[in-house]
Amino acid sequence: MARMPGATFHRVRNYTADGQQSVRGVVVHIMAGTLEGSQAWFNNATAQASSHFGTGKDGELRQWVDTADRAWAQAAGNRTWLSVENEGKGGDALTNAQIDANARVLAWAHREYGVPLQLAKSPSDRGLGYHAMGGAAWGGHSQCPGPRIVAQLPTIVARAKQLVASTQETPVADLTAKDIWSYKNTAQGETSDVYAYVRNTKAVADEIEQELSQLRGQVAEQKTIITGMFALLKTVSDKIDQLGA
Ligand SMILES: [Zn+2]
Repeated sequence: MARMPGATFHRVRNYTADGQQSVRGVVVHIMAGTLEGSQAWFNNATAQASSHFGTGKDGELRQWVDTADRAWAQAAGNRTWLSVENEGKGGDALTNAQIDANARVLAWAHREYGVPLQLAKSPSDRGLGYHAMGGAAWGGHSQCPGPRIVAQLPTIVARAKQLVASTQETPVADLTAKDIWSYKNTAQGETSDVYAYVRNTKAVADEIEQELSQLRGQVAEQKTIITGMFALLKTVSDKIDQLGA
């Protein structure tokens, strides 16, 4: 179970329980609607849609689906990516407050799942991606979130880096008993985060291993084809020699 501190949790009905297989990164979307409208839609069973997070133009950040569960935002990308829907319509740019909210989600995904603070350009990358990069397999939403928002993604990554870097530590001598108590609780939380991180890394490694074994199979097929072509060439060349003789 993972819920982001700083996001208000409102459970919606559309999701697959325990369905998040791994987390390669965070996918940015545009709603074509409002925060409230999307929340109502994600509670409508016929919609067959949801996302983990949603932002309002004023920067309000909601979490609709626990990140242990699979949200229904980008078809074949649902099992391995988290999703953020942003209030607005096609062609909009994100407000400054929305850029901040997306950066907070990315910084949290970095700490929680080891998501690298970088841009993802395709589903085989990791980091901050966007719906259209998944092409037909992700539902063919070529205009989600639109070129103006895609151009803002580097700013989101830069802000997430600032957020991660600005987490400062207090000298031990200045700690109160209350601080120490809260550190103890945080440490317990972080231990379970580390377990989640290791499990996630293992899942990503398994995926890469699968992709590698597919590639090995393809190379073997190509080798067979090339060997066949050489044999054919040899036969033809022998025939030509016989004709010549
Ligand atoms: Zn989308």
